[in-house]
Amino acid sequence: MKNDFERKIERLERERIIKSKLTKIKDSDLFETVEEVFDARTIMALYNLMNKGVIKKIFGVVAAGKEARVYWAESPKGEDLAVKIFLVSTAEFRRGIMKYIDGDPRFKKVRKDRRYIIQLWCSKEYKNLTTAYANGIRVPKPVDREENVLVMEFINLPGQRGVPAPLLKDYPPLNPEKAYSIIENYIIKLYKQAKLVHADLSEYNIMHRNGEYIIIDWGSAVHIEHPNAKNFLLRDIKIIFGYFRKMGVDTADPEDFLEKLLE
Ligand code: ADP
Ligand code: MN
Repeated sequence: MKNDFERKIERLERERIIKSKLTKIKDSDLFETVEEVFDARTIMALYNLMNKGVIKKIFGVVAAGKEARVYWAESPKGEDLAVKIFLVSTAEFRRGIMKYIDGDPRFKKVRKDRRYIIQLWCSKEYKNLTTAYANGIRVPKPVDREENVLVMEFINLPGQRGVPAPLLKDYPPLNPEKAYSIIENYIIKLYKQAKLVHADLSEYNIMHRNGEYIIIDWGSAVHIEHPNAKNFLLRDIKIIFGYFRKMGVDTADPEDFLEKLLE
């Protein structure tokens, strides 16, 4: 067992190494327009992704929320990537996300310090994306994850590099019936096959283009054995069905749909 003093020395040494590497990164061509808002570990994570040949260049920010920012980036092969960086942020955010972590059988042992929680949240989104993707649900294809940095396929507006496709909330579907049936099927597949509940499903987290509906923002998704999975599922169903009802679609009744799904 190491004592506190030894741990502190190790931490200082790690920080010293990171700082010395940072000076080199400043001269590299990784960043084009990334603001200097990230801590040393985040910049190191980006640096590692660059050294691994995942990212070549990061362009501008496409979305800046309270908890995460999404950047448009490019792979060494010239493919467009979305890089979601979770900010090592407020106590409020950490409290808020714990209800989607505690109780999930996949995350039994959890440390509570802030860096660790944010990393866990990022790895949870990555895992959920991977599972959903493997089960044929249309999501951005996951590419890699390093610390609090998630790399995935960039869902662009057709013919517009670096511009995200619209969300359902900004641009309603041309054929709401068809959209409803596709998304309803994703909910079923997600539960039955992938054994997950998205838990933050709404018109704010569904992008679309050319009749394709792409579900994003998977941090909250829980395993169906999470003690609140059924409540989250019913909430998702109510929100989505409510949205389509406003579009004039004759949706199923949320409670009936849930009951059938759980049979
Ligand atoms: P938040 O937790 O901030 O809601 P989201 O994952 O919903 O994070 O992403 C925020 C925004 O970033 C989305 O509304 C979308 O415009 C953009 N975005 C997210 N993922 C992608 C992606 N894979 N490709 C293109 N744009 C994306
Ligand atoms: Mn979102």
